[in-house]
Amino acid sequence: MANLYPGGHKGDYTLNLREDPAYMSTGSFPCPVCGGSFRALKLRDVKLIPLRTGELRTQFKDVEPLYYEITTCPNCRYSAQTAMFDKLLTSRRKMILEKLTPYLPELMPWSESPASAGAVFERYYLALLCAGAGFADRELVEAGLWCKLSGVYADAGDAGMEAYAAGEAQKAYLTAFQNLRIQPVKFPSLNLRIGLLSVKIGDVKTARDFLYKVKLDPNSTRVQKDGADDAINELKETVTDHA
Ligand SMILES: [Zn+2]
Repeated sequence: MANLYPGGHKGDYTLNLREDPAYMSTGSFPCPVCGGSFRALKLRDVKLIPLRTGELRTQFKDVEPLYYEITTCPNCRYSAQTAMFDKLLTSRRKMILEKLTPYLPELMPWSESPASAGAVFERYYLALLCAGAGFADRELVEAGLWCKLSGVYADAGDAGMEAYAAGEAQKAYLTAFQNLRIQPVKFPSLNLRIGLLSVKIGDVKTARDFLYKVKLDPNSTRVQKDGADDAINELKETVTDHA
């Protein structure tokens, strides 16, 4: 039996799913993998009101976008972040179908938007499966998905899996730096992400290395440098606490 989930995933999670019509609309999606088309609910990004912004996560009034960011085809179950749904390499269609096939009998019934916490997680893990096969910059796509998943696990109250997902995100960003040609203008944001994720998982050395890169990079914004400073101070406190 094919298992979509990593070992620590418990499965009996609850999330506060609130489908406020003010933030949702129905969109039509042609599926780039099976060629079918379907209608599904999607977030109206322009309506979102940010409350707390952060490099790893921004929180919004009344709605948690993380639960609604993955679009899934009802027919073949190809899944990706809504904004990237049609951006996959068309040469990879067959490979994605082959990847998905073993999981199809186990999946929950499809609905226009995720109807339960289980469906939210299922969509993320399907998107991770497809990202590995379908995108040229797969490392960055995977890193972004793991980052978001870490936030979803935090909301579901699973600190162990929150840290696990943060660790997977950190690894994927580090691999992206090795495998992809990343434009220097993106360094501050990626370095800050790696630094913050490393703080989360207690990887002090990597955290320090990458947070100082953000502080010294002429391309970093004031907000990014402040973010790095805050995280460095947090690290010092942790180290003192344990001394
Ligand atoms: Zn499809």
